[in-house]
Amino acid sequence: MKLSEKASGICPSKTMSLAAMTRKMKQDGVPIIDFGAGEPDFDTPQHIKDAAKEALDNNFTKYAPSAGTEELRSAIADKLKNDNGLNYSYNEIVVSNGSKHALFNAFLAILEQGDEVIIPAPYWLSYTEMVSIAGGVPVIAYTNVMTGYKATEEILKKHLSEKTKAIIINSPNNPTGMVYTKEELEKIADFAVRNDIYVISDEVYEKLIYSGKMQHISIASLNNEIKKRTIVVNGLSKSYAMTGWRVGYTASDVTIASAISNIQSHTTSNINSIALKAAYAALKGDQSCVEEMLNEFKHRRDYIYQRVSDIPYLSCLIPKGAFYLFIDISKLCGEKVDGKKIKDGADVARILLDKYNVAVVPGESFGYDDHIRISFAVGMEDIVEGIDRIENFVKDNF
Ligand code: GLU
Repeated sequence: MKLSEKASGICPSKTMSLAAMTRKMKQDGVPIIDFGAGEPDFDTPQHIKDAAKEALDNNFTKYAPSAGTEELRSAIADKLKNDNGLNYSYNEIVVSNGSKHALFNAFLAILEQGDEVIIPAPYWLSYTEMVSIAGGVPVIAYTNVMTGYKATEEILKKHLSEKTKAIIINSPNNPTGMVYTKEELEKIADFAVRNDIYVISDEVYEKLIYSGKMQHISIASLNNEIKKRTIVVNGLSKSYAMTGWRVGYTASDVTIASAISNIQSHTTSNINSIALKAAYAALKGDQSCVEEMLNEFKHRRDYIYQRVSDIPYLSCLIPKGAFYLFIDISKLCGEKVDGKKIKDGADVARILLDKYNVAVVPGESFGYDDHIRISFAVGMEDIVEGIDRIENFVKDNF
């Protein structure tokens, strides 16, 4: 028996497999510090959990419309208007099982076999695989530290072809934490409109921006032309500590939204009914929980950035948003540890895990094999201990 070409070409998600592995190691009593998957360590706020309990008590446990209840889709439309200056009606919103599912639906809705999608690197590791499963071809557009790891029109232009169907913009970015300014987005929007391509705008980290002066701008909000060709993707996992609930959504032109909803009606139908009510409570309830988590993330960001910057041979940019530090380890490459030459971030990640009990994600997952990513969505005590161990790794071996 043979697997499909599609399935055999797909690599497992490194972040997910690392999360499963560290969970198992913790259960087995290994004193692991987990800087792997980006998952807020906070509990889901109480009022959101209460809404879920109420949904159960009221027997809100049956099928709902595939794209989500009108109640929740309208709440999302209100959020997009109030937070992002975007006007969508509820029927242009589709609620999916997490932003991941929303993204995948978006690719299925717009890609023909062989269509190219420009993915600026560093990129979140699932984009490439999702594009491939949907029949598209991921085209990686490498950026550099000089542009703050951001895509510019010049970089995108080099990767444009007759087959280009879409570009992915992810701001704040996973794994770099970079945030695009309005001016930068305007140039990318002009480029997309001029070349008649879609923009998939992954905005899942929008609430996590650490500089008061910077603001999250949705590219779709810049003008009507770009709005028509943008699929905004967002979710509640990161802003409301709701990773396990699986609530994400797309906002797009109604034709695209209907296609996404049709696809979903044959695959998963609605997301679980309890989460529909919990998500409504999250969006309509008191927002101070978001602010509190943001403040704590900022505190951790400041600490972790300072500590890592002080470690010789390692370098990184200060993340303006999200909760990751993308560390350049190229100065360690070519050096020997225990008689073996370090080739890349994967070697560093392996040594950190095996000898120092620290889990980090190798940069190859994000298109840069001489980097590692650490997530600071973990408690302060673990951050201090984990960075001490990384510092010891460098001190002991270089
Ligand atoms: N998006 C998070 C990360 O990059 C969670 C894991 C995943 O979905 O890949 O770590």
